[in-house]
Amino acid sequence: MNAEKANISFKPGIYLHIPFCEHKCGYCDFYSITNRQQQPEFVRALLIETEKTLQVFSIDQTFDTIYFGGGTPSLLEIEQLETILEFLRQHFNLAQDCEITLEMNPGATEREKLPLFKELGINRLSIGIQSFNDQELRFLERIHSTRQAIEAFEAARKAGFDNIGLDLIYALPNQTLTTWKHSLQKAVALNPEHISAYNLSYEPNTPFFRRLQKRQIMPAAEENELEFFNFTHQFLTENGYLHYEVSNFTRDEAFVSRHNYKYWLHVPYLGFGPSAHSYWNGQRWGNKPSLSHYLQQLNNGQLPQDFSETLDEQTKEFEHIFLRLRTYEGLDLAAFENTFGRSFLQSYRKIVNELIDSGLAQLTGKRFCLTQQGMALCDEILQRFV
Ligand code: SF4
Repeated sequence: MNAEKANISFKPGIYLHIPFCEHKCGYCDFYSITNRQQQPEFVRALLIETEKTLQVFSIDQTFDTIYFGGGTPSLLEIEQLETILEFLRQHFNLAQDCEITLEMNPGATEREKLPLFKELGINRLSIGIQSFNDQELRFLERIHSTRQAIEAFEAARKAGFDNIGLDLIYALPNQTLTTWKHSLQKAVALNPEHISAYNLSYEPNTPFFRRLQKRQIMPAAEENELEFFNFTHQFLTENGYLHYEVSNFTRDEAFVSRHNYKYWLHVPYLGFGPSAHSYWNGQRWGNKPSLSHYLQQLNNGQLPQDFSETLDEQTKEFEHIFLRLRTYEGLDLAAFENTFGRSFLQSYRKIVNELIDSGLAQLTGKRFCLTQQGMALCDEILQRFV
């Protein structure tokens, strides 16, 4: 990837966690609630949290991404989104070309809202489609149908969005490569700028995890997950998409998710809202995943933090390796040496040689990166650097 041309930046970003959903999907472990009565109170608290954070840190950097995640941010009223964006524009230096992403759920977004999102300056949509198979959507407990997903995408295009990402999930129980291929074909036919494809995971504290423990769900076998991963890579790259991170594909380098790329490059970001995390000046903190705690703390003049830690050098180094190797760009050897004062290849000679010998990694120019085969086993491989 050409870093100059790619939509990658080292300026900090802003993440906003909007903790409301119309329905709670059984596999999801993101913090959200379905009672939306406190939505107005939440928006007020979000502004207070932001203001308080700015008082604690003197911040004069220019930010170039705002990411509305959740939850289902498209459930916010237009006036609420407008209030938040206006506040951010007043309190932060925002780059002229600031990427402003809104996650949206096809089953919980009125069509009329789309042109208004655009008018507010939102310039990127991330649509949680997950599958183009109605049976699979029902299994995932999504509230939309395939038809609604396609209509939502088309309405977004019509509203003028020229940077749209789709999220898909694979390796569902009983899913076959044929049904998955059908979803990928439908996705590609819409010609989105970006596709994220994740394998279904069973996170503790989710209904799916409990069903798995009771053997009510049989997960896809590990070798099937691998097959799905490789198939996805092959299908999307053959259809002109660049596989730039384990789960992310783009039609062009200019449409790399600038905000998400910050996480892989350890670029500082500030997160606001219940369960949001921040990384700033080598410090990481996170808010408690609870709206009532969030509102209570802020009403009492306190920040709603759950934990705060200063990353030691060893953690920073491991995270640097862990995050960089998730990208197809891989790890820049000179940058590693500049940051940590030692050579990556010498420090990890044994693992590096083993990975190269087994075809799981390679040295390309001044970078060390995983091969396609290595990417498929990414999580396993990265544990070896701990
Ligand atoms: S809509 Fe998204 S955030 Fe909400 S419960 Fe479903 S998967 Fe989770």
